[in-house]
Amino acid sequence: MSTSHGTATAVDIAAAVRAGERSAVEVLEPYLAAIEARDAELHAFNLVTADEARDAAAALDRRVAAGEDPGPLAGVPVALKDNLCTRGVPTTCSSRILEGWRPPYDATVVARLTAAGAVSVGKTNLDEFAMGSSTENSAFGPTRNPHDPTRVPGGSSGGSAAAVAAGFAPVALGSDTGGSIRQPAALCGVVGVKPTYGLVSRYGLVAFASSLDQIGPFATTVRDAALLLEVIAGHDPCDSTSIPQPAPGLVDVLDRGVEGLRVGVIAELTGEGIAPDVARRVTEAAEALERAGATVGEASVPAAALGLSAYYLIAPAEASSNLARYDGVRYGLRVDARTTGEMMEASRTAGFGDEVKRRIMLGTYALSAGYRDAYYGKALRVRTLIARDFAAAYERFDVLLSPTSPTTAFPIGDKAADPLSMYLNDVCTIPTNLVGDAAMSVPFGTGDDGLPVGVQVLAPALGEVPMFRVGAALEAAAPGAAAVRPDGEEQP
Ligand code: GLN
Repeated sequence: MSTSHGTATAVDIAAAVRAGERSAVEVLEPYLAAIEARDAELHAFNLVTADEARDAAAALDRRVAAGEDPGPLAGVPVALKDNLCTRGVPTTCSSRILEGWRPPYDATVVARLTAAGAVSVGKTNLDEFAMGSSTENSAFGPTRNPHDPTRVPGGSSGGSAAAVAAGFAPVALGSDTGGSIRQPAALCGVVGVKPTYGLVSRYGLVAFASSLDQIGPFATTVRDAALLLEVIAGHDPCDSTSIPQPAPGLVDVLDRGVEGLRVGVIAELTGEGIAPDVARRVTEAAEALERAGATVGEASVPAAALGLSAYYLIAPAEASSNLARYDGVRYGLRVDARTTGEMMEASRTAGFGDEVKRRIMLGTYALSAGYRDAYYGKALRVRTLIARDFAAAYERFDVLLSPTSPTTAFPIGDKAADPLSMYLNDVCTIPTNLVGDAAMSVPFGTGDDGLPVGVQVLAPALGEVPMFRVGAALEAAAPGAAAVRPDGEEQP
């Protein structure tokens, strides 16, 4: 990805800053200038913390001057999805209900990035509470796609994806409950990773659906994504779902190639409902892997087709419980009224947007007495079927392939009025969350409209090593993807 401030990757920046060849302040300024020049148009950020970033960069430079090594992300600017808690810095989830709230602590991932020498440039826009696929559900207005500002960047981590695609930061963090890292990565032409459930601590991630949520990286290269994941992964006693194992080494496996790996193209996710130009790229990706020495075949995961229906019962059910805490008492917005009950009702009515209210109602209904077994219980059983089908597929294949998203970026406003057509965006990404596996999106050329296409690489739980090897091979074989400069001009 070319930007006016060079083709700097996180890997290159950190190496130069650690060696004392570039100062963190020098690295930072062009990114802040790019934000200043173009974020009024794109709205990738809810908040730019330029002063804090400058202070942090200057402090890093003093440490390097004193002979210290600030760590593997020394001086690397990073953008944070605004549902990650940052101590003393507003964390809104793009919702009015959190108005004025400043978390008293840093999310574990934020603390780990800081400890590794990264410099946060701000908090990025999202669909309210991460519910959506276009970033149009933000209470603060939509984010625009840097490749074509009339189009959506995807969602819910659209701000983070757009920030990386526009050269506002070389890397970013997002969260993925049903595709919210991978789908915007695909639509913005960057790399996005949903790690295995439990690999990355969610302590300090504002919960949406706790059995599905994972944090992961956005980057312009697979290597940068691997580096970022290495830094944020690993056991955290503050998250009871965190896997008690050290983080896997990923950067070192990228040059191993794919010789001997078995790759299965998921039949159920490449046919009906997938735009032909997107499906074609997946076929080309499979062919490229075959040329690189992998064995490629057709995989079948029949129950994956039921993923969407199960997800839209399970995720809202968990959300209705998680969002009960926004009561006008403990966080943010309060609308005063005569009684406590009326105050809570008025606060939630004023504070939540339509999609969030829809999910709370769906979830409450799915869990209510008399319906719980028919809806929520059935969805859990379907979840088990999907897990079984994936397990069977992974007996024959090391990784699986599919499109990340059925189409390229769609026009802003196109699907906003029709929730079902919006939900269909996640048909390829949701099954992975339901089973807790790993998956990533790698840019692989463009569609007929010239906009980026992402190919999804799926792997079993803790299959990050083969997944990244395949991701690196796809990146190396990708047809010249459209790059975009911070001034908005496309270049070859
Ligand atoms: N788009 C999906 C939803 O609206 C997934 C969101 C996410 O992964 N956070 O729920």
